[in-house]
Amino acid sequence: MRDTTNRVRGTISAHPRKRDLATQFLTKVMVELRRNRPSLDLGQSWYVRYDQVRGRTFAQLWFSTNGCSWDRRGECVMCNYGHHTKVDWMEMVAFVQDGLGSIDRPVYELYVSPSGSLLDEREVPVRARHSILQLVNDFPAERFSFETRPETVTASTISELRNLVPSKRIAIGFGLESTDPWILRNCINKPNTNDTFTTAITHMSGIDLYANVSLGSAFLSPVEAVDDAVHSVNWALIHGADLALVFPMHVKGYTLLNWLHDRGLYEPPSLWSLVEVLTRLDPALVKRVIISWYRADYGVDSGVIASPTTCPNCKEAVLVALDKFREEPSIESVGRLMAIGCACRQIWMGKFEIPVQPLAERVFNIYHLLAGDLGLTEWLKERESALITEMTRAEP
Ligand code: SF4
Ligand SMILES: [Zn+2]
Repeated sequence: MRDTTNRVRGTISAHPRKRDLATQFLTKVMVELRRNRPSLDLGQSWYVRYDQVRGRTFAQLWFSTNGCSWDRRGECVMCNYGHHTKVDWMEMVAFVQDGLGSIDRPVYELYVSPSGSLLDEREVPVRARHSILQLVNDFPAERFSFETRPETVTASTISELRNLVPSKRIAIGFGLESTDPWILRNCINKPNTNDTFTTAITHMSGIDLYANVSLGSAFLSPVEAVDDAVHSVNWALIHGADLALVFPMHVKGYTLLNWLHDRGLYEPPSLWSLVEVLTRLDPALVKRVIISWYRADYGVDSGVIASPTTCPNCKEAVLVALDKFREEPSIESVGRLMAIGCACRQIWMGKFEIPVQPLAERVFNIYHLLAGDLGLTEWLKERESALITEMTRAEP
């Protein structure tokens, strides 16, 4: 595949360096940006959403916790699932019980999410997890899915899942975002590693794996974002994922995307970019690709500032055709999307060009703006030359 980022593309198999300077910098940035974030209203303690995925009814239940542990330590520049304070384990179980009790139709797949990692004990204490898994086992659905970070998947947590949820086919989703280590470090600040991913897979015999891929990460131009998503989907499906889920980015408050958007430095990806990703997929893999969050009405938190879109003339037609793809991922569904014509698509195509300035330079220039705004100028100045070396070296 052509690399449009003016640099050498690695893969997730290259181990991200734990304390890279970019990672340290973005962590400081995110701690600052999240510093004054208010807690969510406990009136939003759970939320259920239904839709049709691959021809079956899918119910998604989110419940509140005290927040994602990686969010708290400054990871993941695009994310703000919000947080509560002082939700105890019994309340978490009650939220799930209430959410399950509200489900009013037959469901094929039940997804349960703490808006973070279900198997992270700092987010969902073990007692809560056990009770929640027992509730899930009693719920009438064929499949159960949830998200968790790969390092929380161990022989012990998998054995617990098999014991507590014997009645269902289980699927675990990992937020890979990108499989490009340079983008993970310098644009996303998510230290996924090959080690944790492949180790997790070794424990998951008989359990399905969903890989979540981002479209429109910070700093990437539209063409780079599409390339990254296509590359990541292909990589994930070839390296053990049963399904790849593509998530176009929304701008949420207290994120780096929000900071960039306020300054005219970021727009969510066009829905045409999402269509472009689908058209570039290997036809043999299309059936294993799901699109998610292309509408703005997902999740507990309604604090979305900007969402993927097109122009008002074609937006509804594009969304409906994307719904059809979500319901039935196929070449025919992609064909329906490709057949939609609109002047805004031509305008989008006109901007779909490889930027002249290399990505590393563009990112570094914005790091300077961030440092100036967030009181990190001295920190950055002291490490400038080492950071440039780090950002421009070839991936191993
Ligand atoms: S993307 Fe996932 S791991 Fe990262 S902060 Fe958000 S919920 Fe946590
Ligand atoms: Zn249009």
